[in-house]
Amino acid sequence: MQHTSVNVQELDIKNYMETAVGDILMPVLDSLDACKCPNCIMDILAIALNSLPSKYVVTKRGELYTKISNLQNQFDVDITAAIAKASVIVSRNPRHDR
Ligand SMILES: [Zn+2]
Repeated sequence: MQHTSVNVQELDIKNYMETAVGDILMPVLDSLDACKCPNCIMDILAIALNSLPSKYVVTKRGELYTKISNLQNQFDVDITAAIAKASVIVSRNPRHDR
């Protein structure tokens, strides 16, 4: 039996926020002098993403960047603030001894 050829595989649905937070996470953490071990980075990422609204975008594979870069400026301030807040939370209670 042959599958109908619906080309959904060429389309992706992505939470734009995941990309956007990932993009500016390190520069923001640098400016905050936060711990940048993998544990803290992942905790900060999770907390920041939980505090931000999801922004799902449909993209063709490979075209993600050009399409969503237009959204970037719009959310940069919110994302920076969310990362800063998350880093404070994590630095108060890191998964490791200081
Ligand atoms: Zn750490």
